[in-house]
Amino acid sequence: MKKKLFIKTYGCQMNVYDSDRMVDVLAPLGYEPTDRPDGADMVILNTCHIREKASEKVYSELGRIRLMQNDKAAEGGRMVVAVAGCVAQAEGAEIMMRAPHVDMVFGPQTYHQLPEMVVRAVRGAGGVVNTDFPVESKFDLLPEEGFRPQGPAAFLSVQEGCDKFCTFCVVPYTRGSEYSRAVSQVLAEARRLVGHGVREITLLGQNVNAFHGEGPDGKVWGLGRLIRALAEIDGLARIRYTTSHPRDMDDDLIDAHGTVPQLMPFLHLPVQSGSDRILAAMNRKHTGDDYRRLVDRLRQRQPDLALSSDFITGFPGETDQDFADTLRLITDVGFAQAYSFKYSARPGTPAASLEGRQVDEAVKDQRLQAVQQLLNAQQVAFNQTLVGRTLTVLFDRVGKHEGQLLGRSPFMQSVHADAPARLMGQIVEVAIDGAFANSLSGHVVTGETLTPAGRPVMEAHA
Ligand code: SAM
Ligand code: SF4
Repeated sequence: MKKKLFIKTYGCQMNVYDSDRMVDVLAPLGYEPTDRPDGADMVILNTCHIREKASEKVYSELGRIRLMQNDKAAEGGRMVVAVAGCVAQAEGAEIMMRAPHVDMVFGPQTYHQLPEMVVRAVRGAGGVVNTDFPVESKFDLLPEEGFRPQGPAAFLSVQEGCDKFCTFCVVPYTRGSEYSRAVSQVLAEARRLVGHGVREITLLGQNVNAFHGEGPDGKVWGLGRLIRALAEIDGLARIRYTTSHPRDMDDDLIDAHGTVPQLMPFLHLPVQSGSDRILAAMNRKHTGDDYRRLVDRLRQRQPDLALSSDFITGFPGETDQDFADTLRLITDVGFAQAYSFKYSARPGTPAASLEGRQVDEAVKDQRLQAVQQLLNAQQVAFNQTLVGRTLTVLFDRVGKHEGQLLGRSPFMQSVHADAPARLMGQIVEVAIDGAFANSLSGHVVTGETLTPAGRPVMEAHA
């Protein structure tokens, strides 16, 4: 009999990828995904530990799930409840103490062992906690078949973990040290995705440009070389990658931005701060000017490049002058979009124990608002520069209004346009006629689907 599986995913795209793979691992046990937790036979919260707010959400959600678990038991059923991801990795058995109705706690590196964990949990011999960093890689053991992409754009994890130890960040502790998949494994997964109709792949890693996987020639390949190999897959029209560290942008990867047409002209390159003093305290190992020079080099190779970044306001010891340096860097570089966060002290990280240097909450708030105001203005200005241009759009969702499809521009904005349903999953040229804070509107100009290199082939007319 089929059993219902509900997974709620928090945080980054790597968690989205992991959740999809958990579905694959549990499919042979008869579990099928459902979009509602009530009545489910298994509920997994795939969690994020990056900021305090993200972590605390998990406990309030567990309270709600407990009521559903009781309802299910009252009907004679059993709901297995699991906490996965980085909160699970960081807090382990502590979760079972705070929420004794949880059956399984497992980290990001052990979910390939879910079948055994489920058996142990269902037998009821006490909760299962599995937060090891096993010697085997989950990627070697996850099922290859049965991997079903949800649409024409898919994620592919190629790298995990981090050895950089930025002083504010939990990732090196929750995801472990840097690991890169073998090139042959990545290419095989990409071909399978393309075989299922995927046109765009986003390569994922906490530090994706630190990729150093073993190539088929036995040599270590960097991300640039991997991207060139992926670009040879027939039918794969778009390649993206995220998240990158400025220090790992090597010459080959920078060059790929100017020479691989499938590599989209959009780059998420977190800088965190514009102050050299704060960057040093963060252990970022680059200065504001290093970042500016890097952007210049990237723009020389690809003048049309749209940039995105991450910023933290109120890192311990940040002064008004440090913050002014951040605003100056933003003004100098010009971002098409960006994320900004208030510094959140994470237990166990060096920055959290900088006694007496923590910035007042109200000051963090003010700076966050100021940074967001500037970034939002840059985003609107960038979107407006696209009005009047014709962009390729990969339609991957239906729009709010009837007859409308939604997709992504090369620069990552959502674009909506009136288009027949058969253009779903296709890359189509759209003339942009409207720019908003978070999206663009346009009309399909040719209805032609495009070849991987972006040239139109005359087949599907709108
Ligand atoms: N590896 C990426 C890099 O080097 O920038 C970042 C990955 S991290 C999962 C995503 C973003 O979360 C970071 O870029 C940072 O801006 C933010 N972040 C991480 N720890 C944080 C903290 N303690 N407080 C606030 N924001 C944080
Ligand atoms: Fe965290 Fe990124 Fe720094 Fe690694 S490089 S510690 S993932 S912010």
